[in-house]
Amino acid sequence: MKVILSKVIAFYVLCLSVATAFSGMTVMLVQAQNRMASRASSTPSLELKIQPSKLTDSSSATQALRPNEVGKVLILEYHLIQPEETRWGRSLENFKKDLERLYQDGYRPISMAEYIDGKIDLSAGTKPVILTFDDSSPGQLRYLLTNGKPEIDPQCAVAMLLDFNQKHPDFRNKAIFFVLPEAKQPHKLFGQPEFESEKLRQLAALGFEIGNHTLWHANLGKYDATTVQKQLAESVAAIQKMVSGYKVRVLALPFGVYPKDLNLAVTGSYKGISYHNEAILEVAGGAAPSPFSSACNLTHLPRIQVPSSDFQYWLKYFDKHPDEVFVSDGKVDTISLPLASKSRFNSAKFKSLKLDAY
Ligand SMILES: [Zn+2]
Repeated sequence: MKVILSKVIAFYVLCLSVATAFSGMTVMLVQAQNRMASRASSTPSLELKIQPSKLTDSSSATQALRPNEVGKVLILEYHLIQPEETRWGRSLENFKKDLERLYQDGYRPISMAEYIDGKIDLSAGTKPVILTFDDSSPGQLRYLLTNGKPEIDPQCAVAMLLDFNQKHPDFRNKAIFFVLPEAKQPHKLFGQPEFESEKLRQLAALGFEIGNHTLWHANLGKYDATTVQKQLAESVAAIQKMVSGYKVRVLALPFGVYPKDLNLAVTGSYKGISYHNEAILEVAGGAAPSPFSSACNLTHLPRIQVPSSDFQYWLKYFDKHPDEVFVSDGKVDTISLPLASKSRFNSAKFKSLKLDAY
């Protein structure tokens, strides 16, 4: 518990340093600590029962995993992508290693839309991972001028994802970018004013997703209902101004702080612009439930920060406890799971899926 709390405090320190550039704001540490305290209990115990047959080889992705579509899902949370490794910055080198490691371990990216809709179309035996990038800094997507023509800098996250996909076509271009349309530089829509629109359009065209992160990283717990709605609605409007008709479906809470009225994080409107966040991401909390699990609450989805010891922890945890991670059955219209986990399937929500409990 102390470790988790100290991480939340550390996260706040980071956010504060980012937010100082955005606006003056006070920090609601106590609120965050309380939230984390309640969440700590949701982290699975290391003592959970393991099926003996799965213990013989826990190191290889080639090991045939039995499908378990009510297992947990990794939602990874990146901030800065940059040359050097820092607490809140993943080095380019380590980012590349992350992709390699995920791939070798059998993880394949899915979109937030696929998660929300329960349309997880992965090969049998592979595991979904969701890559999220917060705060729209240049290291995530940077253009360089080559003979006067803008091209994606090979040394940024998007270029590395595209490159990885070229080498491994089954590691699709799926990731979500939580952008800040009115933050101070370098966090305003990836930090190059002349290319803001082009970057957002390119992200969408490449199959990546764009998510709401408020206009300038506003702490939604601090504001009245009108301001909360203004922050969320105007963010959508700013994105849609650049990517016509784009449907923003997901909110990542700045600082992980909910507005006093949770409903306003989900839906609302401001001056005729409405928004609807079908899923809401927090800033920590461990692995997320399967979207097919009754335990899944789309308005409270935990994430795993990278870098952090949590990231390594969960990779190792699922390596040792392969029966707890989401493993696809390779069939998008069927939900496959061990008989013992049958009661965890949210059959009321996913009526149209065929159930294969073995
Ligand atoms: Zn943020």
